[in-house]
Amino acid sequence: MQTNLADFIRDTPEGKEADAILRKCTHCGMCTATCPTYQLLSDELDGPRGRIYLIKQVLEGATPTAKTQLHLDRCLTCRACETTCPTGVRYGRLVDIGRHLVEERVARGPVESAWRSALNAVIPRPALFKSLLYMGRLARPLLPRSLSRRIPQGTTARLWPKASHARKMIVLEGCVQPSLSPATNAAAARVLDRLGISLVRATGAGCCGGVSFHLNLQEKALDIMRKTIDAWWPHIEQGAEAIVITASGCGVTVKEYGHYLGQDPAYAAKAKRVSELTQDISEIITAESAKLKSHIAPPASRIPHQRVAFHPPCTLQHGLKITGKVESILTDLGFELVPVPDAHLCCGSAGTYSILQPELSQRLLGNKIAALESGAPSAILTANIGCQAHLQTASSLPVRHWIEALDDSLPYRD
Ligand code: SF4
Ligand code: SF4
Repeated sequence: MQTNLADFIRDTPEGKEADAILRKCTHCGMCTATCPTYQLLSDELDGPRGRIYLIKQVLEGATPTAKTQLHLDRCLTCRACETTCPTGVRYGRLVDIGRHLVEERVARGPVESAWRSALNAVIPRPALFKSLLYMGRLARPLLPRSLSRRIPQGTTARLWPKASHARKMIVLEGCVQPSLSPATNAAAARVLDRLGISLVRATGAGCCGGVSFHLNLQEKALDIMRKTIDAWWPHIEQGAEAIVITASGCGVTVKEYGHYLGQDPAYAAKAKRVSELTQDISEIITAESAKLKSHIAPPASRIPHQRVAFHPPCTLQHGLKITGKVESILTDLGFELVPVPDAHLCCGSAGTYSILQPELSQRLLGNKIAALESGAPSAILTANIGCQAHLQTASSLPVRHWIEALDDSLPYRD
């Protein structure tokens, strides 16, 4: 695709990056076939190719409108289009740049602005989110069903093992995960403990910054990233082998710290190191699979395993490009995975999308639940807290992180 970027952006780092991405697009349209919003709305501007054109126009000096903003807002940032694209167009990065430009030029209405500010004020603050969730749970009996079903039930974490091993890894606590699913990181710690690795929590590292970034508050997001690096850095200096992420949505963000902070002289090198150390829990377990096998009980004495449906989050399959690892781990352990049609499609959670674009999100959720339940599983497993909480609002089956199922399936003495 030929480009002619406007003077205001041409020689900036973002302009150069966007130009290189645009030039890779051949306008073939193959990406539209796997775009969830195009499938629902059948509008070229609600597919990747149309959005790429909208962003190109803005970069070339056109004045964006509320309609431009709407089509970019409707994008889930699921990056299914990147997986499909034959020429390697990095759509996710392009839409980040495009959204930021449009946000600076198109004012939002007061109600929408208030919603976005509230989300940005609450979600990245784990203590505040926990208090509001607690109040929501108390009020649940008084709320209409449409609201109460969106407030998740509490779950209990199993015992977190003592940090007794020489091998240490850091875990990202996350922003909403400690309140919504405290069992997830505890399960990761318990599984890694069996493999001779202590998983440690760093005081001061909560949110990864992803929520603020995707609400177009990039400066705030960068501050959160710097704070998280500061919290992790002493552990890295003491020899932590890896930064373990149990929410694939956060994994995508932390693996990009090196890029986001690449222009910050004080943090560029540290951010690059953090990104290099970051691994999804499925990558760690796969690397340690030989040791894991020694903990698997012989078939005759195993707890009978479940028939489960696995939902690979978009951030896992399209963002981190990790496909098949979790499925292999579960299958090796004896779980029966039911086939799930259209596994490449988003469930509609997508960060704050389920709140900001409720109608499209609910349609995607309905389709996803039907696909996941079509093989009659007894549970749904996934790899990201956003998807987990979103799917649970529409299914009577238990929805859990797969590492919890793995923890349950291995012998352990508390
Ligand atoms: S990121 Fe997802 S929703 Fe957005 S254009 Fe690509 S496929 Fe469509
Ligand atoms: S598949 Fe890739 S090259 Fe083709 S239109 Fe989509 S982004 Fe452009």
